[in-house]
Amino acid sequence: MAKPATATTRAPAGRKTPAKAKKETKPKSGTASKKKAPAGKKATASKKKGEEPYPNWAAPTPSVALEAVARLAAVHGIKDPPPRKTILDSLVRTILSQNTTDKTSAVAFARLKEGLPTWTEVLHAAEGVAEELVRCGGLAEVKMERVRLILRDKRVRTSGEPSLEWLHGKSDEEVKRVLTSFKGVGPKTVACVMMFTMGRAEFPVDTHVLHIGIKLGWLPANASREQAYEHLNRRVPDACKLDLHVLLVEHGKCCTRCAKNGKLQKKECAVDRCPLVGLGAPASDSDSSDDDVPLSEWKSA
Ligand SMILES: [Zn+2]
Repeated sequence: MAKPATATTRAPAGRKTPAKAKKETKPKSGTASKKKAPAGKKATASKKKGEEPYPNWAAPTPSVALEAVARLAAVHGIKDPPPRKTILDSLVRTILSQNTTDKTSAVAFARLKEGLPTWTEVLHAAEGVAEELVRCGGLAEVKMERVRLILRDKRVRTSGEPSLEWLHGKSDEEVKRVLTSFKGVGPKTVACVMMFTMGRAEFPVDTHVLHIGIKLGWLPANASREQAYEHLNRRVPDACKLDLHVLLVEHGKCCTRCAKNGKLQKKECAVDRCPLVGLGAPASDSDSSDDDVPLSEWKSA
């Protein structure tokens, strides 16, 4: 698990990218402030895959990332990660989660495993059987076609039961190369599998992470998910990637201030007061959130 303590020691040594992310925006402390700092600004980014799109964008600093973890954890708590699945299970699970909610796709995956417990059985099941099992998650035909393509792949059927466990011994680059070569498997899926299942230092960017990242000034307003991934992976300390990702996703579902379109996905965890207000502000006034943001804007409805 992530050990924020380790990261804390690294924090002050954080990269000193010249904080020159477009003039007035970036507070010197490297902190993204609550002002929609860079929001509204368009950064011109390197579009080259695998490169840092915003080399001059100084936020978030390691200490701000750690502070975000601490504040969010105080509100949402840090949950134990779910038991590790195999890489193949994890990959299929994320394919089933595309275009649906986590809850629904969890049901779809559970039904699939119950009806066809092994991947060999999935592969040899009569036409339509697997599709029926995952029907509740939508796009059953498309998703199962992708799953079967993976199961039939030579790299997955090395011997006996289909498996990708051999990837544990490979470098991050090799893992990414193999996983993204499967149809329907994008960078976010790969990052999720690597972080949750393989314990690699990855920071997947989903809609919540992107939205809050822009809001906090960690990203330019026009950042794409891919650009956000390349930037945040470089800036968020490895030791807190998992926790920060999980907490931001949870927070994005529970905070009116931070939820996309202000709509809560989880009413049961509704947050009264956003703990990210003032994040990164100078210590002296870090608690006075009303200096630059209308209080009403930070209040949950
Ligand atoms: Zn919030």
